[in-house]
Amino acid sequence: MLGYGPSEIGSTLEEWSQRLHPDDIKQCYEDLEKHLRRESPFYENEHRLLCKDGTYKWILDRGKVMEWDTDGKPLRVIGTHTDISERKRMEEALKESEQEKFRTVADFTYDWEYWINPAGLLVYVSPSCERITGYRNDEFINNPGLLTDIIHPEDKTLFEDHFKTRDSEPAHEIDFRIITLTGETRWIGHSCQVVHRKDGVCLGRRVSNRDITERKQMEEDLLQKTKDLMRSNKDLEQFAYVAAHDLREPLVAVASYLKVLERLSHNPIEDNGRKCIAKALHLVLRMDAMLQGLLSYSRLTLTPQSHEISDCNVCLADALSNLGFELKKSGAVVTNDTLPMIRINSSQLVTIFQNLIGNAVKYRETAPLRVHVGCVSQGSEYQFSVSDNGIGIEPPYLNRIFNMFERVKDLSGPSGTGIGLSTCRKLVERYGGRMWVNSNVGKGSTFYFTLPKD
Ligand code: ADP
Repeated sequence: MLGYGPSEIGSTLEEWSQRLHPDDIKQCYEDLEKHLRRESPFYENEHRLLCKDGTYKWILDRGKVMEWDTDGKPLRVIGTHTDISERKRMEEALKESEQEKFRTVADFTYDWEYWINPAGLLVYVSPSCERITGYRNDEFINNPGLLTDIIHPEDKTLFEDHFKTRDSEPAHEIDFRIITLTGETRWIGHSCQVVHRKDGVCLGRRVSNRDITERKQMEEDLLQKTKDLMRSNKDLEQFAYVAAHDLREPLVAVASYLKVLERLSHNPIEDNGRKCIAKALHLVLRMDAMLQGLLSYSRLTLTPQSHEISDCNVCLADALSNLGFELKKSGAVVTNDTLPMIRINSSQLVTIFQNLIGNAVKYRETAPLRVHVGCVSQGSEYQFSVSDNGIGIEPPYLNRIFNMFERVKDLSGPSGTGIGLSTCRKLVERYGGRMWVNSNVGKGSTFYFTLPKD
């Protein structure tokens, strides 16, 4: 088996022990002593033995104590040696081809992967590291310090702390920056995991690094744009509020002077002058009404959202009572479904009902006015409707009337500011709802709005 003739090899135990491969000595003696302490029924160990030609052969060594003396010491042992070199060679080849397969997969990954063995040594780095960092994989293997050297100074502590605490934990992710070979800063999405064999033995730590620079850049841009948008929205709201407030002051003064002038000009020849004054006064009062509308519109976003639960039936009753005089004058018949309880500021819901029913009254036909307030449950929201048999709205205006100051052109008759519907829509949208209208010219309109149930 080992290449010696019978005369070339002795029969002492040393003939065996001195040929044992140094790496196998420890385990071999442990197994042997275990049996000699009678802790195992027989001894078995696989180890390498030195042959005459200087090579090693793998041997399966099995033995058993056949006789013990009265002190419990072994007297006679028998054993066998089996040459298992061929089996070992095949096992090794298989292992290598498996490793080769996995290495090929890892080599072709787009991400920068690496493997740290239980002793903390970097044993594998995928070639894709060069695309991300500018450094080749052998540079990382030969200089493990490079891994931390390239971390951005502001992220070094984060990176080191991450490696201190991760051993017992499953997969863990952090984002940090690196400085590449060319001095560029890149964002890395890092995830790592300690991997164990089925029997619990730790195999090391698997690390995967992804270049997320573009994603980070987009996130930062989006954040900046959102901030800019919020700031310009705030500015606009503030501007509308201040402008409406300050612009009203001179208007109110002009209106009072015009009123005084109107009272003073009693002379019949000044009739034309009086007509002009009356027209100017009408325009000033209209402008004042528009500014007041703008003022209350801009106040909407300045008032915080309410979380009170309101009874919509009570809100509708309040709106009808506020419209009392005009409703009575129009002879309108208002009917309604039973309405639900919802989370909304009640005075805001009163405003919505009052605007919509007030419009039905303003834009009515000659036929007796009928208004119906309906409500249906639809999934997570309620859909309200306010329908009338009024003049209706021409298709091109169906969307536009919800814009500020927008009114149906050539509308002689009812006066208005064109702010009511934009206020209603803004209120509904603040609660996450939508508002729209369906209409038939000459037949009537139905305004719809949705509000979430909770
Ligand atoms: P205002 O009534 O002050 O003009 P709104 O914003 O409430 O302002 O309405 C905008 C326009 O929509 C109105 O000028 C009118 O032309 C049209 N409108 C609103 N409600 C109705 C309705 N029920 N029937 C017909 N037209 C309507």
